[in-house]
Order: sequence, then C-alpha cells, then structure tokens
Amino acid sequence: MNSINDTTKAPHLPTPAQAVAVVAGLLDTGAVRRWLFGHIHSERAACPYCGCTVEGKAAVTFWNGGRVACKGCQHYFTASTATPFSKSKLTDEQTFLLLVSMALKLDTRTTAALIGINTSSVRENRAKIEALLQN
Ligand SMILES: [Zn+2]
Repeated sequence: MNSINDTTKAPHLPTPAQAVAVVAGLLDTGAVRRWLFGHIHSERAACPYCGCTVEGKAAVTFWNGGRVACKGCQHYFTASTATPFSKSKLTDEQTFLLLVSMALKLDTRTTAALIGINTSSVRENRAKIEALLQN
C-alpha cells in the first residue's frame, strides 16, 4: 500500500540538471515578451519609422509580438523591428534568461546549458547586451 510515509519507494525527483534543461520551455512566452519589449519601448507602442502611436487592437498585436501596419506611414513592423533584438537568433525567453544569468553571474558553460545555446553564442550575446547597457 502506498502512503505518504512509504520510504521503500524512491521519489521520482527530477535532477537539478533536468530542471535547468527545461526552464526556458516552461516560461510564459507572452509574459516574457511583454516585459522585455515593455522595457525596450518604455511601455509605448510606436512606429519605428515615423513615431506614430500604435493603438487599440494593433497595440495588442504589437505587444503580442505580431506584425502591425502604421496608420501614419503604412510601414509594417513588429515590437522587435529596429531594436537591438531585431536580428537576434535568440528567442525572447533565451534573451530573458541570458539577462537573468548575467544578474546571477552564472559562468558561460552553465548559462549555455540553461539557455540551450553554445558557449560562444553566450559570450557573443553577453558582449552585445553589456555594450547596450553602457549606452
Ligand atoms: Zn509610421
């Protein structure tokens, strides 16, 4: 009979390494994107070409990472257009975890395991973010 006090059966605890391997996939994509781009755009959805404010349904699309058309100049863009992350190969979750790893001062190898990218990509992207933070 199984009971909570049954010590004969080992619990199926995940290993810490298994937890690290899945953390990026367990993040709320929408919440991460909203937080990241909210910071980048100082909470203002606007056209990167003419500065026209994005409003209503288009603003919801913008903050969800979708493509919108400017009512002022008709250019199409997303929240990442014309930002340092527009050509990034990292997902929003990976960028977020890279920032977290920098705050926690995790070494390159640990960060690579956490994010699921190689160590040279970690170094390259950290250097890029550090340069941006100094501006
Ligand atoms: Zn515009």
